[in-house]
Amino acid sequence: MPELPEVETTVRGLATVLDGRRIVRVEPRRADLRRAIPVDLGQRLTGARITSLGRRAKYGLIATDRGDTLIFHLGMSGRWRTDPEEIGKHDHLLIETDDGHRLSLNDPRRFGSLDLMPTAEVAAWPTIAALGPEPLGGALDGRWLKQRFERRSAAIKLLLLDQRIVAGLGNIYVCEALFRARIDPRKAGGGIGQVRLNALAEAIPAVLEDAIAAGGSTLRDFAQPDGELGYFSKQFDVYGREGEPCRGGCLGKIRRIVQAGRSTFFCLQCQR
Ligand SMILES: [Zn+2]
Repeated sequence: MPELPEVETTVRGLATVLDGRRIVRVEPRRADLRRAIPVDLGQRLTGARITSLGRRAKYGLIATDRGDTLIFHLGMSGRWRTDPEEIGKHDHLLIETDDGHRLSLNDPRRFGSLDLMPTAEVAAWPTIAALGPEPLGGALDGRWLKQRFERRSAAIKLLLLDQRIVAGLGNIYVCEALFRARIDPRKAGGGIGQVRLNALAEAIPAVLEDAIAAGGSTLRDFAQPDGELGYFSKQFDVYGREGEPCRGGCLGKIRRIVQAGRSTFFCLQCQR
């Protein structure tokens, strides 16, 4: 499943091909993904010029000079392909630009989504409006975490997965950020002091930025024909490393526990 770094890399890659271009042809190739694709999507995008690309949590935002924004979510298996040599049954949306590039949104499992709405309404869209601050770009700080965790007895791991507290964080990067901040994922959110939450607020963007840097090669390849965006491999410190040696300087091994049905990887010695 693409996590925030992949979505960010996807948006940056799409920007290199789409920003400032006019869309000359749009072909939705099915009526729905996770939910219906707007029936007038092709009509509203054809002929429009793309004025900006951005991201909110795991939603990619593509704005046009007609005052519309195309909002995409990659779901479990979505990816954008550039100048694909063949179009297959999993290519659900094709976009052609005035300089001859063709982009395809490919999503075999179809848990992704495509929405189109007036740009002025995006921030108030309930899905977006309910989100907490972005973990990248300096919007997240330790005081915000302290305020939102106040008197909360839930484990900090679970609180960090709550999109109303921090937008766009998934299981992998919550585990990685807690390891980097040396915080035990089982600890009650309300019991963690300000200094440690300040460290956490720095660790979260740091692990995401490292992952985005690891996806740099994906970004370069995207400019080539048949390039694709959406996934890259990354070496994690704790995620997926059960039983392997801790990299935090202790002699212990990484443990795996299950919290609310999802795996948590951490070091019992380093994380308190
Ligand atoms: Zn350790």
